[in-house]
Amino acid sequence: MYQRPFILAACLLALFGLSFLRAPNHNEDYRETLYVFGTLVEIEIRGEPAESARAAVAEISREFERVHVAWHAWHQGGELGAVNQAIARGKQIEVSPELANLLKTAQNLSKESEELFEPAIGGVIAAWGFHADEPPSGKPPSADTIATWVAARPRLADLTIDGSTIRSSNKAVRIDLGGVAKGAALDLAADILKRRGIENAVLNAGGDLNVLGKYAARPWNVAIRDPFGWQAVASVEMRPGEALYTSGNYERYLEYDGERFSHIIDPRTGRPVTDIVSASVLHTVGTRADAAATALSVAGVKDWSRIAERMNVDLALLIDGKGKVYLTPGMAKRVKFHVTPTNVIVVEPTKQLALARHAFVRSVGKPTNTNPTIEKNQQ
Ligand code: ADP
Ligand code: MG
Repeated sequence: MYQRPFILAACLLALFGLSFLRAPNHNEDYRETLYVFGTLVEIEIRGEPAESARAAVAEISREFERVHVAWHAWHQGGELGAVNQAIARGKQIEVSPELANLLKTAQNLSKESEELFEPAIGGVIAAWGFHADEPPSGKPPSADTIATWVAARPRLADLTIDGSTIRSSNKAVRIDLGGVAKGAALDLAADILKRRGIENAVLNAGGDLNVLGKYAARPWNVAIRDPFGWQAVASVEMRPGEALYTSGNYERYLEYDGERFSHIIDPRTGRPVTDIVSASVLHTVGTRADAAATALSVAGVKDWSRIAERMNVDLALLIDGKGKVYLTPGMAKRVKFHVTPTNVIVVEPTKQLALARHAFVRSVGKPTNTNPTIEKNQQ
């Protein structure tokens, strides 16, 4: 059904997406690719002396290595590992102000998402085999195992974050920041660049990205990947300071008996999400965009619009298993489609259930410089 995914190829596609879509003059570019969080992170800085660009990337690289250890979900040696061990033993623990802040942010995002973005479900994510450096293999967990985790109902709301002291009222909480760590790390990197006076840059972690400023006189133009293939389904001109994050089940999944299980788990059922194959969120904060992309994947066709609204997300685009594209009215104005989706549905935030159906017809495969004509067809 889907193309076979390779993370490296996906990253290269994201990099390629950036390079083929932007303006041709890149003489002043400084580019470096780091490997961290199991993915390639391409950093591109414009209009800076190579020496200062190199120094900035060196600092970012050190910070990425540090947070990679500190926020790791299953390597036990880092700060988050210690938090999870303390919670399992019913003990409180002191953490760095940085981790306390990130947990507070994640706790708020969980609440806003009606606990669909729920990093406390690390136990059930591990039971599905996703706490491993290798892609998972073997059988899905038993119904009993899943039911036990769901009944324990681990939530970040169970945490009390008192200054930098963390305690949990629920021993089943196992924090997995995989749904938000990339966003938090790229926000950190963007702050480093800004502090160093760097104005124009892009930080791209396999298609999840933050931009600063512009590419020469033009905006950074980035691709949203077609989850069913390698081409771009659409592209977006990024405004300075924006971030675009996509959650998908096409890169990391468990395949068993011909069935594919996504690494994004619905906390209500303890099972992988099924209807959404890709959810992209455009926002000014990477951390929020990342968490919201995960939340909208879980919310699914029925609930994504309400959750987007609650999470203060105006710009989102989702693709379901049949290739149907759902988007917010704001996103409909921002994207340029490169292929012809079978169906595009623009969902008004407050009229989620009265879906306005839009059919549109365009030539296949040709990127254009104008937004597609969208004809309204009330369903
Ligand atoms: P991607 O890795 O494709 O960018 P996400 O940002 O959605 O996707 O991150 C997925 C990761 O988030 C999973 O591998 C897992 O570690 C964690 N996760 C899975 N389900 C949830 C959930 N419902 N809420 C928060 N985190 C989740
Ligand atoms: Mg995410």
